[in-house]
Amino acid sequence: MSDAAPIRFPDVRPGEPMVVSGTLFQTYERCPEQAAGRLRGVYGPESRASFVGGLAHRVFARHLAAGPIGPDRLPSVCREEIGASMNPKLAALGLKPSQLEAVVGEVGALYERFKTLGADGFEGAEVPLEAEPADGLTLRGKVDAVFSDGPAGTRLVDWKTGGLGEPEAQLGFYALLWALERGEIPGRVEAVSVSSGERYEEVPTRTGVEEVAGRVAAMVDRLREAFERGGSLPRDAGPWCRWCPLLDECDEGRAARAILDA
Ligand code: SF4
Repeated sequence: MSDAAPIRFPDVRPGEPMVVSGTLFQTYERCPEQAAGRLRGVYGPESRASFVGGLAHRVFARHLAAGPIGPDRLPSVCREEIGASMNPKLAALGLKPSQLEAVVGEVGALYERFKTLGADGFEGAEVPLEAEPADGLTLRGKVDAVFSDGPAGTRLVDWKTGGLGEPEAQLGFYALLWALERGEIPGRVEAVSVSSGERYEEVPTRTGVEEVAGRVAAMVDRLREAFERGGSLPRDAGPWCRWCPLLDECDEGRAARAILDA
């Protein structure tokens, strides 16, 4: 939905150059210290589920760009996509060639569900977005798919190959990034779980987008301040602690996991 006035992005604390993604923002909103860990380069190990999800996303994008992929072609398409950009992840997982067949089978099952979603108004897949709202601060993301809904405006879609989770922060970030880069507020943002069929959608407003801008700016301020003084940030424990690479050194996370495992 077109709204020509630029989005206001608050001033931020000066500091080292920082690149903020939707994943970083979502992580920060759950647990600030885990987000600080990501910026220090502390990531969890590659997982089979994320490899399957990443490959499925490549297949979805190829379908939208070049048309349907028949079951007989899917294995070779998967091999091409792995060869193009996913070999390091494959090596990190230690998957043997014989185990790839099962991976392709899972991707195929997701693809069959994906094909039922429809693609009316499709405009682009894996659309990169970037904005620099302040010196040394880059906001960056890649939207799974962009659709035109006619008078209702542009729709940004994030496909999930697992559960829907809590997509609000990530969708809010995409709406902000689109507004900053394209100069218009998207008509709709939505997350769709290809595996479960769950769907979450929002109609962004200028007030909401600028509120997200304020949260992103506050995050940048707190992270830069923490890096400058050398301290840590709050550790907000929850189900996400299970996959946190800081879990072994985090009392709060270990306590949460003990409750979850009880
Ligand atoms: S284990 Fe949990 S509480 Fe600790 S840093 Fe990670 S996400 Fe935060």
